[in-house]
Amino acid sequence: MSQPQATEANDIAYCRSDFPVLDQAVNGHPLVYLDSAASAQQPAAVIDAVARYQREDHANVHRGVHTLSHRATELYEGARDKLCSFINASSRAEIIHTSGTTESINLVAQSYCRPMLQAGDQILITWLEHHSNIVPWQLVCEQTGAELIVAPINDRGEVELDELRALMTDRVKLLGIGHVSNALGTINPLLEIIADAKQRGISVLVDGAQAVPHMNVDVQALGCDFYAFSSHKMIGPTGAGVLWGREALLEAMPPYKGGGDMILEVNFEHTVFNELPYKFEAGTPNISGMIGFGAAVDYLQSVGMDNIYQHEKALHSYMVSKLKAIDGLHLIGTAREQASVQSFRLNDIHPHDLGTILDHQGVAVRTGHHCAMPVMQRFGLPGTTRASLGLYNNSDDVDQLVVALEKARQVFA
Ligand code: PMP
Repeated sequence: MSQPQATEANDIAYCRSDFPVLDQAVNGHPLVYLDSAASAQQPAAVIDAVARYQREDHANVHRGVHTLSHRATELYEGARDKLCSFINASSRAEIIHTSGTTESINLVAQSYCRPMLQAGDQILITWLEHHSNIVPWQLVCEQTGAELIVAPINDRGEVELDELRALMTDRVKLLGIGHVSNALGTINPLLEIIADAKQRGISVLVDGAQAVPHMNVDVQALGCDFYAFSSHKMIGPTGAGVLWGREALLEAMPPYKGGGDMILEVNFEHTVFNELPYKFEAGTPNISGMIGFGAAVDYLQSVGMDNIYQHEKALHSYMVSKLKAIDGLHLIGTAREQASVQSFRLNDIHPHDLGTILDHQGVAVRTGHHCAMPVMQRFGLPGTTRASLGLYNNSDDVDQLVVALEKARQVFA
């Protein structure tokens, strides 16, 4: 296959120079960063927005009458508005600021599911899930006597839709499903799956950590009830994220954590909780992280999510064609709909050894179970090597990966 053609629509090569960290040598080689699925790099616009806030505007939000507190509040709440329109939520009250996908899912498990689950009820997930979309459900099942059930995947790494549907019985109270698999890159056909679940009266939480950075996401069009995602996967700072939920559901849910900011009135007999979204935001939030998250959304929108999707799709196809040509390389995860993530094995080289050899050549990939141990068990593997692309990657990065893999193959021959 030839290199992806830059067209007017997908020519986002200029992006790369906006990401200062990419301009460096690692172990004597130009850095090739192929680990965006673990954490994406940040553009100068995000770094500068955070630094500007720290230098000029830092104060606690919401409670202060002074100018700096007003400025900080405006920036922090401005990020909520940006996130609201980015995922097409119907109201800013539906955007709960969290520390990330993990906290968002735990919030739903404890605040939405725990009060309603009874012994005999079921939570349904799939074999593709990240540990963050497994363990919170295990915990709430242990607390309530409910049962966790799991829909299987096929050898390509796709959810078996008939089996998923067959598991959607009256006993299932919630389906927790990833939009895009972080281990295999599989894009789930969510519109269809969510429609089936909703028709059967099942609530749906989507783990969107690996989707929102790479494609347009419209939570209203999807028809789910909750959608969770993280800032650091989408070129923003770590420790910030969002839980989107339908307003009526969030209204009815009890708070997840107690503390300052989530109350209107406190006395020793009774506490009146704050309105949405603040009811779920106890304590001083990650102000700088959310401001950076807002700047990340601005940046992604300026490039255009459709452009990013097309660019990454073309680059992923190019990478797959190059990887397939390497002797002894086996792709793990070959779903018909795949995002810009590719797992693979090279002969019987242990992924950690392979990752180390690649690092010596300046190529950063992720190795191991990718916080998705059941996926590895399904394929009978201790782990894989995973190359994941971001909007700033280009075909030179893929070519460097291939050179490094060929070298590793020779080292272990
Ligand atoms: N779900 C998926 C699919 C992920 O890839 C990740 C991060 N690897 C998470 C959940 C957890 O995200 P965070 O650590 O930001 O909470």
